[in-house]
Amino acid sequence: MADALRNRGLRLTGPRRVVLEVVRGTDSHPTAERVHQMVRRRLPRVSLGTVYRNLRLLVSEGLVKELPGPHARFDGNVSEHHHVTCLGCGRIVDIAGTLTEPHSRALCGRVAAEAGFSVSHHRIEFYGRCPECRRRRRRRAGSNRMGARRGAAR
Ligand SMILES: [Zn+2]
Ligand SMILES: [Zn+2]
Repeated sequence: MADALRNRGLRLTGPRRVVLEVVRGTDSHPTAERVHQMVRRRLPRVSLGTVYRNLRLLVSEGLVKELPGPHARFDGNVSEHHHVTCLGCGRIVDIAGTLTEPHSRALCGRVAAEAGFSVSHHRIEFYGRCPECRRRRRRRAGSNRMGARRGAAR
């Protein structure tokens, strides 16, 4: 990890290294606020602004990915992969790029042909309910028939 930074000629300052380690050390796709909380366990005096600035820097260096959305979330996994987002609790889970590869390649080909672009990459977003939210919903449905009907209508 320190090598990844050094190879790109970045100065290895304390906060930046810790921010990178924190983001790389989780697959929870944390918000800047969440990264700040985790970084503060190791650097108690670091400000949210500093964490945010370092996140931006790491994103611009390609060491961290930023996920689009209402609240920016960050991903230390910079390899090609997709995400499935839970509409119930907002958690984001990684889906390996290889899982969608046959379709991905066909799609890229068609987009390139239709738009005349050379397509470098793309992302597929999946949405649904995670196992915990599904369990919670089933429990609620069991104790409340109205809820079950409302849930089924959605
Ligand atoms: Zn959920
Ligand atoms: Zn991810």
